[in-house]
Amino acid sequence: MFDNLGLDAHMLKAVRDMGYTEPTPIQEQAIPLALEGKDLVACAQTGTGKTAAFILPSLQRLNERDVTATGPGREPNGGRTSPGQPAKRQIRALVITPTRELALQIDEVARTVARTTGQRATAVHGGVGYGPQLAQLRRGVDLLVATPGRLLDLQLRGDLDLSHVEILVLDEADRMLDMGFWPDVRRIVNSLPTKRQNLLFSATMTPTVLRVIGATLTNPVTINVAPSATPVDEVEQAVYPVHQEQKTDLLVELLNKRDLNRVLVFTRTKHRADRLCRVLERSRIRGAAIHSNRSQPQRQQALDGFKRGDYRVLVATDIVARGIDVDRISHVINFDLPSKAEDYVHRIGRTARAGAGGTAISFMAAEEINSLRDIERLIGTVIPCHDLEGFDYVQRVVPSPERTAKRTPPRLVYAGSKKAASRRYSRSR
Ligand code: AMP
Repeated sequence: MFDNLGLDAHMLKAVRDMGYTEPTPIQEQAIPLALEGKDLVACAQTGTGKTAAFILPSLQRLNERDVTATGPGREPNGGRTSPGQPAKRQIRALVITPTRELALQIDEVARTVARTTGQRATAVHGGVGYGPQLAQLRRGVDLLVATPGRLLDLQLRGDLDLSHVEILVLDEADRMLDMGFWPDVRRIVNSLPTKRQNLLFSATMTPTVLRVIGATLTNPVTINVAPSATPVDEVEQAVYPVHQEQKTDLLVELLNKRDLNRVLVFTRTKHRADRLCRVLERSRIRGAAIHSNRSQPQRQQALDGFKRGDYRVLVATDIVARGIDVDRISHVINFDLPSKAEDYVHRIGRTARAGAGGTAISFMAAEEINSLRDIERLIGTVIPCHDLEGFDYVQRVVPSPERTAKRTPPRLVYAGSKKAASRRYSRSR
C-alpha cells in the first residue's frame, strides 16, 4: 500500500495521477528510507519502478521544508527570500542520468509529481539547442534532471547555480561509468554542497561502482530488489540459432509469420541498425532506428512513432535503448547478442514491464556462443533453443539442449552435404 510508506497527500495524489495502485518492491523499500533523509544505494534495473522511488521522496522532502519555512501553503521555494522579494527558485534536487531518453522519461514523472505541490521540474540534455533549456532554468527550477555532458557545459558557462543542491540522485551509475561519463559526474559532484542526501541507483554493483559509492556516499543503506522480482523471470526467453548471414531473412520471416506487434530489436552497431531498417523498409515492415548517430529530433520522432504504433519495429543499440520506457513491447529481439551479459538483462527488461508478460528472442550465430554462455551463467538458466518452422536454415551451430551453462561444446547442425557444411563452418569461425 502506498499509504504506509510515509508519503503525504500531494504525493499520494501524484501516485493516483500516474495510475499506480500498489508500490513495486523498490518503491516499498526506498521511499521510507529516502524520506528519513538517509543516503541510499539501490541495486535495481530499469523497469522496477525506480524513477518514482526517488522522485516521490525527493519532492516531498523539499516541499516539507518549504512548508516549514512558510507555514501552511505551498509557495515556491518556501519563501526563503525576505518578505516582499520575489521568491527565487533554486535547484535543490539534482538527478544525473546517462542518456537523453532517460532524462526525458524521468522529467515526465518529475513534472507529474511536481504539479501536485506547485514545484517545478525540468530536464537538460545534449543534442538540442541551449535556448529553451536556459529559458526554463531562468524561470526557476526545484528539481533538475540532467545528462552529465550538458550539465557540466551549463555549469562551466555559468548558467547554472548548483550551490543549493540538497538531494543528489545518481541514476544508472554503472552505465555512467561504462559510458565514460564519470570524470564529468565527479567534477559536478565535487562542486555540490557537501551536506546533502545522496541516492544512488545502479543495475549492477561492480567493483568500480562500489569504489564510487565509497567516495560519494555517507553510511549508505543498501537496498537490493530480490532477484525473483526482476523482470527477467517474467520474460519468456528463446534462442534461435542461425547463421550470421541469415539473420536478416530470419527476422523478416519471423515478423511476417508471427503475430509480433510491438517489437524492439537490438543490434551490435549503429551501422547494423541502419542497414536493418532499410531492409525492413524494403520488406514493407514499418520500422525506425534509434542510436547515438541520429539527431535528438530524429531519436524522439522514432520513439514517439513507436509509442503511437506508427512503427511496428524499433531497431536500437544498447546505449540509447537503456531505459526506453514504452508500454506493451510484445517482443525484444536480440538480432545480435550483447557482448556484455548484463546488457542482455537490460534489453529483455524492456518487455514484460510492470508485470505484463513478454517474449525475448535471441538470434545466435556460431561466433556468439560464448556470449550466450556468459548470459546463461549470469541469469542462472539455460535458455531453450527454437527454430522458426518452415525457415530454410543453412548450416549453423545449435547448442546442445542438455548443456550446462558452463561446459557442453556446441553441436554442429547443417543442411546440404556434410563436406560443404564443415567448410562453411570452418570459414565462419
Ligand atoms: P522505471 O523502472 O522507473 O523506469 O518504471 C518502469 C515502468 O513501471 C514505468 O512505465 C512506470 O510508469 C511503471 N511503474 C512504476 N511504478 C509503478 C507502480 N507502482 N505500479 C505500476 N506501474 C508502475
